[in-house]
Amino acid sequence: MPKAFAMAAALSIALYQFVPDDPWWVAGWQMGIGYAAVAAILVGAGRLPRRDRLAFRLFAAGLAANVTGIGVAVFSAEVLHLSDLPTPADPLFLLLYPFCAAGIAVLIRRRETGRDWTAMVDATTITTGFGLLAWVYVIAPAADGGSMTMLGEATQVAYPIGDLIMIAMMARLLRGGGRRGAAFWWVTVSLGTFLLGDIAWVVDGNLIDQGYPIEDLAWLNRALESIFLAAFAMFGVGALHRDARTLGAPAGPAVARLGRVHLALLTLASLIAPALLAVQLAQGEVTDGWAIVITSAALFLLVVSRMAQLLREVERQARQVRELARRDELTGLPNRRAWNDELPRALEHARRDGRPVTVALLDLDRFKLFNDTYGHPAGDRLLKASAAAWQESLRAVDTLARYGGEEFVVLLPDATEAQAHDVLARALASTPLGQTFSAGVARWDGRETSDELIERVDAALYAAKAAGRNRIQEWRTQISEAANRPAAAAARK
Ligand code: GH3
Ligand code: MG
Ligand code: MG
Repeated sequence: MPKAFAMAAALSIALYQFVPDDPWWVAGWQMGIGYAAVAAILVGAGRLPRRDRLAFRLFAAGLAANVTGIGVAVFSAEVLHLSDLPTPADPLFLLLYPFCAAGIAVLIRRRETGRDWTAMVDATTITTGFGLLAWVYVIAPAADGGSMTMLGEATQVAYPIGDLIMIAMMARLLRGGGRRGAAFWWVTVSLGTFLLGDIAWVVDGNLIDQGYPIEDLAWLNRALESIFLAAFAMFGVGALHRDARTLGAPAGPAVARLGRVHLALLTLASLIAPALLAVQLAQGEVTDGWAIVITSAALFLLVVSRMAQLLREVERQARQVRELARRDELTGLPNRRAWNDELPRALEHARRDGRPVTVALLDLDRFKLFNDTYGHPAGDRLLKASAAAWQESLRAVDTLARYGGEEFVVLLPDATEAQAHDVLARALASTPLGQTFSAGVARWDGRETSDELIERVDAALYAAKAAGRNRIQEWRTQISEAANRPAAAAARK
């Protein structure tokens, strides 16, 4: 179906080049192709789920108004002999812009789940840059139409402004998320072709104003008009394409990718203002100074806000990475890296405040046996459940961290050994599945380094294991002496 339509449209556009040079024939042929495209869009829309139809109906309305304008233009020129702007056809021609812009807006809303601020800034940057070009070369000259009426000037200015709005919407559509199937490209290329046609008309008009004898070149006019006919036809093909339904399909959250083409386009748009200034300086007269000042300022602000967005994103990710690097994946507790940062800081606090601080090292008893009996995954679940249970029975000020394997450390600020013993006894009783741990406890002596403190706690833990497990052992002088004896040191390996 889209293939047959495309072939028929291509053939009609080819034949259009040879249609008799009569205004009614020419307009009639154009309208035939245009209305066929509108019909194709409506047929395509009718095959879509109800909620996907709106965008296509808006496009169809815009195209229909434009096509009708062709007929009205011939009628007002040939029958009413009107030639001054605005002709009755202009409002119809111009309706293409708001309807297509609305259609694209609907598509963008359907395709994207959230608000895409990045896409918005990028689209505005591109539109601002090209808007300046349009202002200097098209809009400002058009607004200065000599003998024209105000309404005539406004009409002439409305076309490039309509084009700019289309550029903005298309930049936004292309920048945003969503699937890009065949229909997406038929539709965007069609809209781009309408823009191309408008630009070609402006260039043609400028050349005529400069005295080039091209006004009566029939083949050139046919070719220019064919650009619009091709745009009509391509839209019809897109709407008839079976993947038209993906055009309004919501995509996942958009990722702020910055491809090479896209970066080049942003760069180009940002450089338009200084380039224009350079051109005007070289010509010896800056005629659009203020326009250049305003757009440059706008572009700087847009680039800065884009930069701010990216920096904020980078900072957020850096925070996330830092957070992940300090957390144990299985239990969600601070890991050894975090603990190694935390302990010296806690000792420093205790020194400053002159308050006690106690550290404990916990090691699950016979955990290897548990693993061997119930399997490694069950061992993991026990680690997780134990961490949660202990965390519950510790005081709010205590910090529990995973030291490694089935060993955990606890920082008990403001606690003497006796107080720490009580807290740990509660934790021991709370261990899930009837399991137990052994713990070594030592209070900071006020001078030793964190490594020396941990060494004493470790010696106490070893003593707890040696004494039969399932207990909390406070450090005593004899413990370290025993641990340092060669036989005991060898036994620990
Ligand atoms: P003890 O009472 O002397 O501490 O005996 P144990 O079996 O607990 O001690 P040992 O150090 O011999 O065994 C520790 C076991 O912990 C060995 C290892 O397979 C297991 N383990 C270490 N990390 C993990 C883990 O993340 N998940 C699971 N499931 N097991 C782990
Ligand atoms: Mg162990
Ligand atoms: Mg163990």
